[in-house]
Amino acid sequence: MAQPETAWGPHPEPLTVSSAPTPEYGSGSLADLLPTLAAGLGVPDMNAAITELTPADRNCVFLIDGLGWEQLKAHPEDAPFMTSLLATSRGGTGRPLTAGYPATTATSLASVGTGLPPGAHGLPGYTVRNPDTGELMNQLRWQPWTQPGVWQPYPTVFQLAHAAGVHAAQVSSPTFQNTPLTRVALSGGTFLGRLTGEDRMDLAAEQLAAGDRSLVYTYFAEVDGAGHRFGVDSDTWRGQLMYADRLVQRLAEQLPPRSALYVTADHGMIDVPFDEQHRIDFDEDWELSAGVALLGGEGRARHVYAVPGAANDVLTCWREVLGEQFWVASRDEAIAAGWFGPHIDERVYGRIGDVVAAARDDVLLIASEREPKESAMVGNHGSMTPAEQLVPLLEVRS
Ligand SMILES: [Zn+2]
Repeated sequence: MAQPETAWGPHPEPLTVSSAPTPEYGSGSLADLLPTLAAGLGVPDMNAAITELTPADRNCVFLIDGLGWEQLKAHPEDAPFMTSLLATSRGGTGRPLTAGYPATTATSLASVGTGLPPGAHGLPGYTVRNPDTGELMNQLRWQPWTQPGVWQPYPTVFQLAHAAGVHAAQVSSPTFQNTPLTRVALSGGTFLGRLTGEDRMDLAAEQLAAGDRSLVYTYFAEVDGAGHRFGVDSDTWRGQLMYADRLVQRLAEQLPPRSALYVTADHGMIDVPFDEQHRIDFDEDWELSAGVALLGGEGRARHVYAVPGAANDVLTCWREVLGEQFWVASRDEAIAAGWFGPHIDERVYGRIGDVVAAARDDVLLIASEREPKESAMVGNHGSMTPAEQLVPLLEVRS
């Protein structure tokens, strides 16, 4: 398989659906991480798809929300410890992982925790249509409420590891303890809520040591939050990156024997200028909104649900209006191109838009009326460009 760097040249081939750089499902995507670690722990039926990683008895995954590979590489002075680990990325190859499509938190956390691509776990967007009700459902906030075990029926890797006698634990914010997203994506074993990053690192190290074989997950949110509000190069963002770097070092220095720490992210980020060329407003554009029943996804990764019979017209129109700024695919084209993984579960098919639009340039398709908050964000993510799709997989071993 081609390396991401070659697939994403500065002058890609003519714009077609298949020219989009599809995530490396099955060999180097976020969904491959936990199964690889669990396989090394002897959990049955797990595929060690990331062949560069060497098994360890105690495994910790530290997920830094929003810290893409390109942003980390661009700020060595703010993240000296993580920068020192870049050569150990992906088991010493110095290469990143791909997040999966779309590159958004709910989708990626589900990919991490279930070890499955979006087409299987069924959280293929920030908001997607629930085919049973016809309503949009927000996957991050789980609104409107939907039966979690029906929406995502697969066990998590933590649950399977726990059942196989591995000590499994998640150390995150207490506010996530009982959310449906945690339940479908990150449950299994013990959930421990701690408010501060320092407490989480200390507790994650303790949990690693609590079993002869262990699988521990911990999380830090604020790099993403600062990027959305102020942009990737803002002082606030850099401050959060510096803080995250100290947290990684704090955890690395406390690793018990026979441990491997993996630092990764759910997606990267890209700043989008505030002008009409870069922020196309769906709510003000009668061409784009013609024939559209529901607008899902987010500014750089749209699911478009057409009124019955209008899907082809919407596809044609979106291609014309958006030109080369977006990859615009029909549902079947996006599925065939592997954007959501090699296989789409039947229950997931109708959650994917009739038309799927993924940003290629530094543009956004905002919706100023229906999504006022999201439309005002500086930093954004969702699509398949390297800035948002590539995430680190740094390794520290004790
Ligand atoms: Zn985000």
